[in-house]
Amino acid sequence: MEKLNYPRSLASLLFIALTLTAACGAVTNDYSRKRLRGDKGVYQPGMRVGFSAGELLRTSHFDRVVVEIQSVRGFAPSQEAVNLTQRFLERHLKRSPGQIQIHASDSIPVASLGGKTRFTLSDVRFIESRYRRRYTQKGTLTIYLLFLNGSSADDHGEFKMLGQAHSNTSIVIYENTILEKVAENPNASRPVAEATIIAHELGHVLGLVNIDRRSGTGHEDPLHANHCDDPRCLMHFTAENTLFVSPTGAVPELTESCLRELEELRSLEQ
Ligand SMILES: [Zn+2]
Ligand SMILES: [Zn+2]
Repeated sequence: MEKLNYPRSLASLLFIALTLTAACGAVTNDYSRKRLRGDKGVYQPGMRVGFSAGELLRTSHFDRVVVEIQSVRGFAPSQEAVNLTQRFLERHLKRSPGQIQIHASDSIPVASLGGKTRFTLSDVRFIESRYRRRYTQKGTLTIYLLFLNGSSADDHGEFKMLGQAHSNTSIVIYENTILEKVAENPNASRPVAEATIIAHELGHVLGLVNIDRRSGTGHEDPLHANHCDDPRCLMHFTAENTLFVSPTGAVPELTESCLRELEELRSLEQ
Protein backbone atom coordinates (compact mmCIF):
# COMPACT_ATOMS: atom_id res chain seq x y z
CA MET A 1 0.00 0.00 0.00
CA GLU A 2 1.39 3.37 -0.91
CA LYS A 3 1.60 5.95 1.79
CA LEU A 4 0.89 9.65 1.72
CA ASN A 5 4.00 11.66 2.23
CA TYR A 6 3.77 13.90 5.27
CA PRO A 7 6.13 14.94 8.05
CA ARG A 8 6.77 12.50 10.89
CA SER A 9 5.81 15.11 13.49
CA LEU A 10 2.42 15.58 11.84
CA ALA A 11 2.01 11.83 11.64
CA SER A 12 2.59 11.65 15.41
CA LEU A 13 0.03 14.34 16.01
CA LEU A 14 -2.45 12.54 13.83
CA PHE A 15 -1.80 9.32 15.71
CA ILE A 16 -2.56 11.08 18.97
CA ALA A 17 -5.73 12.51 17.45
CA LEU A 18 -6.67 9.03 16.29
CA THR A 19 -6.46 7.69 19.81
CA LEU A 20 -9.05 10.28 20.82
CA THR A 21 -11.89 8.90 18.80
CA ALA A 22 -12.78 6.15 16.42
CA ALA A 23 -15.85 6.39 14.19
CA CYS A 24 -18.31 6.95 16.98
CA GLY A 25 -16.26 6.75 20.14
CA ALA A 26 -17.05 9.00 23.05
CA VAL A 27 -13.98 10.71 24.45
CA THR A 28 -13.54 13.00 27.37
CA ASN A 29 -11.66 16.24 26.97
CA ASP A 30 -10.80 19.22 29.09
CA TYR A 31 -11.89 21.97 26.73
CA SER A 32 -14.16 24.44 28.39
CA ARG A 33 -17.48 24.92 26.65
CA LYS A 34 -16.96 28.62 27.20
CA ARG A 35 -14.33 28.45 24.51
CA LEU A 36 -16.85 27.38 21.89
CA ARG A 37 -17.80 30.86 20.74
CA GLY A 38 -16.41 30.72 17.26
CA ASP A 39 -12.91 29.83 18.32
CA LYS A 40 -11.35 28.09 15.32
CA GLY A 41 -8.85 26.31 17.52
CA VAL A 42 -11.28 24.08 19.34
CA TYR A 43 -12.97 23.04 16.11
CA GLN A 44 -9.93 21.53 14.51
CA PRO A 45 -9.97 17.75 14.03
CA GLY A 46 -9.61 15.73 17.20
CA MET A 47 -12.54 16.87 19.31
CA ARG A 48 -14.81 13.94 19.98
CA VAL A 49 -17.81 13.08 17.81
CA GLY A 50 -20.88 14.73 19.33
CA PHE A 51 -18.93 17.51 21.06
CA SER A 52 -20.66 20.22 19.00
CA ALA A 53 -24.13 18.64 19.05
CA GLY A 54 -25.58 21.23 21.41
CA GLU A 55 -24.30 24.14 19.35
CA LEU A 56 -25.75 22.59 16.18
CA LEU A 57 -29.12 21.73 17.71
CA ARG A 58 -29.65 25.09 19.42
CA THR A 59 -29.70 28.34 17.54
CA SER A 60 -28.61 30.46 20.50
CA HIS A 61 -24.83 30.38 19.85
CA PHE A 62 -24.46 30.08 16.09
CA ASP A 63 -26.82 31.79 13.65
CA ARG A 64 -25.62 29.84 10.68
CA VAL A 65 -24.40 26.34 9.82
CA VAL A 66 -22.10 25.91 6.84
CA VAL A 67 -21.36 22.50 5.33
CA GLU A 68 -18.21 22.33 3.25
CA ILE A 69 -18.19 19.31 0.90
CA GLN A 70 -14.88 18.60 -0.75
CA SER A 71 -14.36 15.70 -3.11
CA VAL A 72 -11.57 14.07 -4.98
CA ARG A 73 -12.19 15.01 -8.62
CA GLY A 74 -14.80 12.74 -10.16
CA PHE A 75 -16.14 11.52 -6.78
CA ALA A 76 -18.49 14.33 -5.76
CA PRO A 77 -21.93 13.40 -4.43
CA SER A 78 -24.91 13.91 -6.73
CA GLN A 79 -26.73 17.24 -6.52
CA GLU A 80 -29.87 15.36 -5.45
CA ALA A 81 -28.00 13.95 -2.43
CA VAL A 82 -26.77 17.46 -1.56
CA ASN A 83 -30.37 18.74 -1.76
CA LEU A 84 -31.60 15.91 0.49
CA THR A 85 -28.82 16.74 2.97
CA GLN A 86 -29.93 20.37 3.05
CA ARG A 87 -33.49 19.31 3.88
CA PHE A 88 -32.31 16.82 6.55
CA LEU A 89 -30.39 19.59 8.30
CA GLU A 90 -33.21 22.13 8.04
CA ARG A 91 -35.61 19.60 9.57
CA HIS A 92 -33.46 18.41 12.47
CA LEU A 93 -31.55 21.60 13.28
CA LYS A 94 -34.86 23.49 13.10
CA ARG A 95 -33.28 26.20 10.99
CA SER A 96 -34.54 28.05 7.93
CA PRO A 97 -33.01 27.34 4.48
CA GLY A 98 -31.05 30.60 4.73
CA GLN A 99 -29.39 29.48 7.97
CA ILE A 100 -27.86 26.39 6.38
CA GLN A 101 -25.47 26.73 3.46
CA ILE A 102 -23.78 23.88 1.64
CA HIS A 103 -20.68 24.62 -0.43
CA ALA A 104 -19.55 21.75 -2.63
CA SER A 105 -16.40 21.48 -4.73
CA ASP A 106 -14.41 18.63 -6.22
CA SER A 107 -11.12 20.41 -5.85
CA ILE A 108 -8.85 17.62 -4.62
CA PRO A 109 -6.66 16.31 -7.46
CA VAL A 110 -6.40 12.52 -7.66
CA ALA A 111 -2.67 12.91 -8.24
CA SER A 112 -2.21 14.57 -4.84
CA LEU A 113 -3.09 11.29 -3.10
CA GLY A 114 -0.09 9.42 -4.46
CA GLY A 115 -2.15 6.62 -5.96
CA LYS A 116 -3.62 5.68 -2.61
CA THR A 117 -7.06 4.05 -2.68
CA ARG A 118 -7.36 2.67 0.90
CA PHE A 119 -7.41 5.30 3.60
CA THR A 120 -6.77 5.16 7.34
CA LEU A 121 -8.29 7.80 9.58
CA SER A 122 -4.81 9.33 9.83
CA ASP A 123 -4.82 9.71 6.04
CA VAL A 124 -8.33 11.19 6.14
CA ARG A 125 -7.34 13.76 8.75
CA PHE A 126 -4.19 14.68 6.89
CA ILE A 127 -6.17 15.29 3.68
CA GLU A 128 -8.69 17.39 5.63
CA SER A 129 -5.92 19.44 7.25
CA ARG A 130 -4.51 20.14 3.81
CA TYR A 131 -7.67 20.98 1.88
CA ARG A 132 -10.34 22.15 4.34
CA ARG A 133 -10.99 25.83 3.76
CA ARG A 134 -13.89 26.66 6.04
CA TYR A 135 -13.77 26.60 9.83
CA THR A 136 -16.11 27.73 12.53
CA GLN A 137 -16.01 31.45 13.02
CA LYS A 138 -18.04 33.94 14.95
CA GLY A 139 -21.70 33.07 14.49
CA THR A 140 -21.12 30.31 11.92
CA LEU A 141 -20.52 26.67 12.77
CA THR A 142 -18.91 24.64 9.98
CA ILE A 143 -19.07 20.93 9.22
CA TYR A 144 -16.67 19.30 6.77
CA LEU A 145 -17.48 16.33 4.52
CA LEU A 146 -14.66 14.68 2.58
CA PHE A 147 -15.55 12.42 -0.37
CA LEU A 148 -12.75 10.02 -1.28
CA ASN A 149 -11.99 8.01 -4.40
CA GLY A 150 -11.34 4.85 -2.39
CA SER A 151 -12.25 2.77 0.62
CA SER A 152 -11.56 2.54 4.34
CA ALA A 153 -8.44 0.71 5.50
CA ASP A 154 -10.72 -0.86 8.14
CA ASP A 155 -12.68 -2.81 5.50
CA HIS A 156 -12.37 -6.57 5.76
CA GLY A 157 -14.11 -9.29 3.75
CA GLU A 158 -17.71 -8.31 3.09
CA PHE A 159 -17.59 -5.55 5.73
CA LYS A 160 -17.14 -2.22 4.00
CA MET A 161 -17.44 1.20 5.58
CA LEU A 162 -19.44 3.70 3.54
CA GLY A 163 -18.59 6.62 5.81
CA GLN A 164 -17.37 7.68 9.24
CA ALA A 165 -17.90 10.63 11.54
CA HIS A 166 -14.46 11.05 13.06
CA SER A 167 -14.54 14.29 15.01
CA ASN A 168 -17.00 16.93 16.18
CA THR A 169 -17.30 18.55 12.74
CA SER A 170 -15.60 16.05 10.40
CA ILE A 171 -17.05 13.28 8.26
CA VAL A 172 -15.48 11.12 5.58
CA ILE A 173 -17.50 9.36 2.87
CA TYR A 174 -15.92 6.50 0.92
CA GLU A 175 -17.59 7.42 -2.36
CA ASN A 176 -15.86 4.75 -4.41
CA THR A 177 -17.27 2.06 -2.12
CA ILE A 178 -20.75 3.57 -2.52
CA LEU A 179 -20.39 3.64 -6.32
CA GLU A 180 -19.22 0.00 -6.38
CA LYS A 181 -22.17 -1.11 -4.25
CA VAL A 182 -24.64 0.87 -6.36
CA ALA A 183 -23.20 -0.74 -9.52
CA GLU A 184 -23.72 -4.21 -8.01
CA ASN A 185 -27.39 -3.58 -7.21
CA PRO A 186 -29.77 -2.69 -10.04
CA ASN A 187 -32.42 -1.52 -7.56
CA ALA A 188 -30.14 0.91 -5.77
CA SER A 189 -30.29 4.67 -6.18
CA ARG A 190 -27.00 6.51 -5.98
CA PRO A 191 -28.48 9.78 -4.62
CA VAL A 192 -30.47 7.93 -1.96
CA ALA A 193 -27.43 5.83 -0.98
CA GLU A 194 -25.28 8.97 -0.70
CA ALA A 195 -27.91 10.95 1.19
CA THR A 196 -28.47 8.04 3.58
CA ILE A 197 -24.84 7.70 4.61
CA ILE A 198 -24.40 11.49 4.87
CA ALA A 199 -27.48 11.77 7.10
CA HIS A 200 -26.36 8.80 9.24
CA GLU A 201 -22.96 10.37 9.88
CA LEU A 202 -24.56 13.75 10.57
CA GLY A 203 -26.70 11.91 13.12
CA HIS A 204 -23.51 10.91 14.95
CA VAL A 205 -22.23 14.49 14.79
CA LEU A 206 -25.56 15.49 16.38
CA GLY A 207 -24.85 13.10 19.26
CA LEU A 208 -26.76 9.96 18.23
CA VAL A 209 -26.90 7.37 19.71
CA ASN A 210 -26.09 7.96 23.38
CA ILE A 211 -22.77 9.57 22.47
CA ASP A 212 -23.36 12.16 25.15
CA ARG A 213 -24.49 9.47 27.63
CA ARG A 214 -26.92 11.88 29.25
CA SER A 215 -30.00 11.36 27.15
CA GLY A 216 -30.89 7.99 28.67
CA THR A 217 -33.45 6.96 26.06
CA GLY A 218 -32.40 3.31 26.26
CA HIS A 219 -32.45 2.54 22.56
CA GLU A 220 -28.77 1.85 21.92
CA ASP A 221 -28.07 -1.47 20.22
CA PRO A 222 -26.17 -3.51 22.83
CA LEU A 223 -24.04 -5.11 20.11
CA HIS A 224 -23.26 -1.96 18.12
CA ALA A 225 -22.22 1.00 20.22
CA ASN A 226 -23.72 4.41 19.38
CA HIS A 227 -26.29 2.88 17.03
CA CYS A 228 -30.05 2.51 17.31
CA ASP A 229 -31.72 -0.84 17.99
CA ASP A 230 -34.59 -0.07 15.56
CA PRO A 231 -33.81 -1.69 12.17
CA ARG A 232 -36.12 0.87 10.48
CA CYS A 233 -34.11 3.80 11.80
CA LEU A 234 -31.50 5.87 9.99
CA MET A 235 -29.16 5.31 12.95
CA HIS A 236 -29.27 1.49 12.74
CA PHE A 237 -25.72 0.19 12.31
CA THR A 238 -26.49 -1.32 8.91
CA ALA A 239 -26.90 2.15 7.36
CA GLU A 240 -23.14 2.63 7.72
CA ASN A 241 -21.99 -0.47 5.89
CA THR A 242 -24.94 -1.78 3.87
CA LEU A 243 -26.30 -0.10 0.81
CA PHE A 244 -29.76 1.10 1.61
CA VAL A 245 -32.34 -0.04 -0.92
CA SER A 246 -35.84 1.07 -0.08
CA PRO A 247 -39.00 -0.07 -1.86
CA THR A 248 -40.23 3.51 -1.49
CA GLY A 249 -36.98 4.94 -2.80
CA ALA A 250 -36.58 7.20 0.23
CA VAL A 251 -33.81 7.85 2.72
CA PRO A 252 -34.73 6.19 6.05
CA GLU A 253 -35.93 8.56 8.75
CA LEU A 254 -34.91 8.90 12.36
CA THR A 255 -37.59 6.93 14.21
CA GLU A 256 -39.24 7.75 17.53
CA SER A 257 -36.41 6.98 19.97
CA CYS A 258 -33.74 8.89 18.05
CA LEU A 259 -36.09 11.86 17.57
CA ARG A 260 -36.74 11.84 21.31
CA GLU A 261 -33.00 11.71 22.04
CA LEU A 262 -32.40 14.67 19.69
CA GLU A 263 -35.04 16.69 21.57
CA GLU A 264 -33.39 15.79 24.88
CA LEU A 265 -29.99 16.86 23.54
CA ARG A 266 -31.51 20.09 22.26
CA SER A 267 -32.93 20.89 25.68
CA LEU A 268 -29.81 20.04 27.74
CA GLU A 269 -28.12 22.87 29.56
CA GLN A 270 -24.52 23.37 28.56
ZN1 LIG B 1 -22.86 4.82 12.50
ZN1 LIG C 1 -33.15 5.39 16.04
